[in-house]
Amino acid sequence: MLLSGLGLLCSMTLHIASLTGHAIQLQNLLTEDMQFRAMTSITAGIFVVWLPAALIAQRINKGNRLKFSWKDVLAGCPQWMSYAVYGLFAYAFINFFLSISTREMDSQQGLRTFSGHWMLFYGMALCIFFSSWRRPSLLRTRHCLAGHEVAHNDQFCSLCGLPAVQSGQDEN
Ligand SMILES: [Zn+2]
Repeated sequence: MLLSGLGLLCSMTLHIASLTGHAIQLQNLLTEDMQFRAMTSITAGIFVVWLPAALIAQRINKGNRLKFSWKDVLAGCPQWMSYAVYGLFAYAFINFFLSISTREMDSQQGLRTFSGHWMLFYGMALCIFFSSWRRPSLLRTRHCLAGHEVAHNDQFCSLCGLPAVQSGQDEN
């Protein structure tokens, strides 16, 4: 969770720098070697952060395997947080098309394109971690009295109609 927050902060800084044209100054500040190391650690960080995030998301969705629901995954997040993720999602795509639509592709444009997506990945991972941390009950599978799996938001089993068994005190 800390790492995904840090990654979001880093990619956001880079993104704002590339938008406002400060990336060149940043580039001059760092040596070639340092730039390369920063790039690789940000990219590697995405994989490090996304592996557990994807596992958590998958586990939360166990209750309904048929449709993967972002709403369920982010159920533990405050409302503004899930809106922020949707906003980031839309923004990353708009940013992507805007930056590839300009003809000349200099390093500034490239950085803008990439950092927009880095922001999205880190932001999404952060929300997934936060959601499962706030509501650990999301990670547990709920069952009805007859033993069928029940979705997190359902009080009754969709198969037999029996009430779901409460899976602990932290259910809220
Ligand atoms: Zn049932």
